[in-house]
Amino acid sequence: MSALIDPFARPITYLRVSVTDRCDLRCVYCMAEDMTFLPKREILSLEELEILCGAFIDRGVRRLRITGGEPLVRRGVLTLFDALGARLGEGLDELTLTTNGTQLARHADALARAGVRRINVSLDTLDPERFARITRWGRLSAVLDGLHAAGQAGLGVKINAVALRGENEHEFDAMLDWCGRQGFDLCLIETMPMGEISASRADQFLPLSLVRRRLQERWTLDETAYRTGGPARYVTVRETGRRLGFITPMTHNFCEDCNRVRLTVTGTLYMCLGQDDAADLRAPLRQGGDLPAAIDAAIARKPRGHDFIIERRGIPSVRRHMSVTGG
Ligand code: SAM
Repeated sequence: MSALIDPFARPITYLRVSVTDRCDLRCVYCMAEDMTFLPKREILSLEELEILCGAFIDRGVRRLRITGGEPLVRRGVLTLFDALGARLGEGLDELTLTTNGTQLARHADALARAGVRRINVSLDTLDPERFARITRWGRLSAVLDGLHAAGQAGLGVKINAVALRGENEHEFDAMLDWCGRQGFDLCLIETMPMGEISASRADQFLPLSLVRRRLQERWTLDETAYRTGGPARYVTVRETGRRLGFITPMTHNFCEDCNRVRLTVTGTLYMCLGQDDAADLRAPLRQGGDLPAAIDAAIARKPRGHDFIIERRGIPSVRRHMSVTGG
């Protein structure tokens, strides 16, 4: 079957799959405290998710990232990793995971056995009190245990941290140092205006240009051509030898070489993180319709890029929360 090429001649080789909209944390920039989650009948079974992923692999998708909500709170999710891991070397080059790390201690070994080699762990602070405040009730020690288990299992780790004004903005120095000692790369992310939250996005937003200037007072950041095919731009930290990435959707967008689409747990395909347009793949999947044709029609609608604006009088640029697609 033919490869997936969008209207701007970009090959679509990367699929991110949200396997649940539920999460065991409520990060203040991500969700409202009283989020309502999808009823069970709306969500695809793990077998249905596997079929949809297979349909994308058959069309040239070479990288899969499992995300959420929190993917590791979905019961039985390791069976999906096992099934997808069996496609590694058979069309699939890489199977990865984005997680908050709270459940990693009990799953790290099984993930490695399924063929996962590296994971992204979201961690915005190393201070237990701040961690509890940002996540509304999380325990930092659970994540640190998870990271330890990931290391024991041989998983490569990249830490993702969202930069929040007045919250963790003076901690990146310490986090860079810690990541260097742990052997982790670090990637900083600007907050994006997705979904209604209790706080003001404008109050939370911290431009990474400022963070970078501050870090340069202590660290030597060497430019590098390293890319993962994603939106992050990387430097190497000379003193630690580790990479530091910046994802700056608000101050720059890097849509021109976007290679990805995002599947939610309801079988909805979003062609752009920063747009509301989406295609329903659940109906053709469940009703025995022409799935490849539905995927083609969706890819034909992939927009050139997004246009986030931090606050339009309190109205988010994109209606859905990040937890719907997992970033
Ligand atoms: N639960 C998993 C985790 O914590 O990594 C996967 C889903 S989570 C929605 C994926 C990433 O999106 C996390 O790194 C989180 O910090 C980030 N995120 C959530 N809302 C965001 C927002 N409004 N702007 C920027 N990043 C956001």
